[in-house]
Amino acid sequence: MSTAVGAAIAVSLLVAGPLPALAGAPHHPVTSQQSPDKDAVSMAGQFSATLTAQPRYRLGEPIALTFDLHNATGRDHSVLEWNTPLENPDQEVLDYLRVSRDGGELGYAGRVIKRGDPEPSDYRLIRAGETLRSTIDVSTSFEITEPGTYTATLDTHLRDVIDRSADAPAARALGQFTRVDLGTASVTFEVVAGGTPRLPLSAALQPGDQTADRPHLADSPKDPKFVGGTASRREATEKAHKNAYKYADKSVGALPNPAPNPAPNRYITWFGKYQKDRYALARSHFVKIREHMEDTVITYDLEPAGCKSSVYAYVYPNQPTKIYLCGQFWKAPGTGTDSKAGTIVHEQSHFTVNGGTDDYKYGQDACKKLAKDDPDKAVMNADNHEYFAESISI
Ligand SMILES: [Zn+2]
Repeated sequence: MSTAVGAAIAVSLLVAGPLPALAGAPHHPVTSQQSPDKDAVSMAGQFSATLTAQPRYRLGEPIALTFDLHNATGRDHSVLEWNTPLENPDQEVLDYLRVSRDGGELGYAGRVIKRGDPEPSDYRLIRAGETLRSTIDVSTSFEITEPGTYTATLDTHLRDVIDRSADAPAARALGQFTRVDLGTASVTFEVVAGGTPRLPLSAALQPGDQTADRPHLADSPKDPKFVGGTASRREATEKAHKNAYKYADKSVGALPNPAPNPAPNRYITWFGKYQKDRYALARSHFVKIREHMEDTVITYDLEPAGCKSSVYAYVYPNQPTKIYLCGQFWKAPGTGTDSKAGTIVHEQSHFTVNGGTDDYKYGQDACKKLAKDDPDKAVMNADNHEYFAESISI
């Protein structure tokens, strides 16, 4: 878990170099920069993120990196911990890190999470001059299975930063965020032979059953399976599963091939300016989701561990047979905006086999803006797919 580090230690860390225990470790302080996004604020140089590693680890050991976030703004702030190393029960790494071995990029084997509006508990107070510290274990979400030279690169930003000295809210809604970039911090370390490699956390999960022997039904999804949950929750999930399939099917229908000219308004709203390859990419995601639901039994875990109250659902993109449902899912309507069925479309789009979308932005306002400002990202953003589908009557 993360802990607060006193200002005195932070100064010695940032000015005098690595802590004694980490002497010799690569240490690259990075300064925050103003983001090219219009919603970024100018806090240049005022929040800094650093990542520190040991010089070497033995295969099979936790690959523990230290993340420090320093507040040099001179004022207290609260920062949204989503998709940063501050959010790490059990040192689990979320999708804020890129890892390579001997120059080759490793696949991310961790979770991606659909989120609703944040709650106050999703924020961390960082006082003026304070450094928040968190320890993460790279091997929880990446396959550190061979010796070699590894590089871990931080690829994240603070999705929302609230100045506490103003008359500040405890949390802000999606779309009201003030983003601060943290730049890119990298560390390089050696992994040497000597132990049994540990596999990512997701490797220990039971994959859902694959039934390849049933005849292919081109117009309906395979029946889902469930882990845990009450009868009424299972029933609601089964209905959402069928409606998600309808959403995928109707989304394909709403994106004719070849594209009409002009492109459908719904496409422009959620995926931005028409461009042939992007249109084909968005369409292919819905085709893949439809086929995947026809071919594969999905297991829904209705009582997973590690659900925070602002979370709808999560998946491991490399495990396309399981969807984990959390608190916000049960509060959501069956269909329409931010619904149960739409959440399943969102999660399906994350599966690598369906196109492997990311979570660049959450919420309708931010996703519409993303479509306008950065359509290349919009066609790879899960919520844009969800909102496109949810805008269709089923
Ligand atoms: Zn997501």
